Amino acid sequence: MLINIDTYRKIQNELSGTGAVLVAVSKTKPAEAIMELYDAGQKDFGENYVQELCDKQEQLPKDIRWHFIGHLQRNKVKQILPFVHLIHGVDSLRLLEEINKQSASLNKKTQILLQIYIAKEESKYGLDENELKEIVTHFKEEKLSHIDLKGLMGMATLTDDTIVIEREFADLSSVFTSIKKELPQYNIDTLSMGMSGDYKTALKHGSTMIRIGSALFGERIKK
Ligand SMILES: *Cc1c(COP(=O)(O)O)cnc(C)c1O
Repeated sequence: MLINIDTYRKIQNELSGTGAVLVAVSKTKPAEAIMELYDAGQKDFGENYVQELCDKQEQLPKDIRWHFIGHLQRNKVKQILPFVHLIHGVDSLRLLEEINKQSASLNKKTQILLQIYIAKEESKYGLDENELKEIVTHFKEEKLSHIDLKGLMGMATLTDDTIVIEREFADLSSVFTSIKKELPQYNIDTLSMGMSGDYKTALKHGSTMIRIGSALFGERIKK
C-alpha cells in the first residue's frame, strides 16, 4: 500500500454528518498512490504544481475532481482551466482578471476560492483586508462574469500553539460570514481550511473543505 487507508477511513468517518469535503493532497506523490485512494472511493484530489497536475490529469481517470491548491502564476492559468474543478489559491486581482479573461474565451465559468492571509508568517500567500475589499467591489460591479466565486481558503501558521491556530481559523471564519452577506448573489458555500496537522481545529471553526496530504500519503520529500 502506498497510502494510509486506515487514516482515510478515520477521516471520512469524522467528516460524515458535517457536510465537509476531503481533498486528498497528492503533490509529489505517484499516480499509483492516487489510484489506490481513488479505488477506495476518493474523487477530490489537490495538486500544487501546474505541470505535475497536467501530467496526472492526462493519465488518470476523467471523473477525478482536480483542485489546484498552489500558488498560480498568471501565465499558467490557460493550462489548467479546461479541466480544473476548483482553484483554491486566488490571491490577487490580476490573477482573478486573467482567470476571468481565459474562462470567457473558453466560454465557461471557473470556480474559485479567494486565499486570505491569516498566518503570522511572511512566506505565506494571501489577500489582506484592503485587497479583499477591492476584489469584493469588482464582484459587486459584476466585472468578473466568468468567475464562479465559491468561497475562501486560508492556511494557519505552522505551529503547535493551538491558541494561535484557533484564532486564525476563527478570523477566517468571520471573514467568510461577512463575504457571504456582502455578495448574496453568489453561491458562496466553501470554506477551505485545515490540513493534516490542524484539520480538527478547522472543522471546529466551520471548515467545509479540508486539504489533507501527509496523513494520507506519508511525509513528502521537499521539492
Ligand atoms: C501541501 C498542502 C496541503 C497538505 O498539507 P499536509 O500537511 O501534508 O496535509 C494543504 N494545503 C496546501 C495549500 C498545501 O500546499
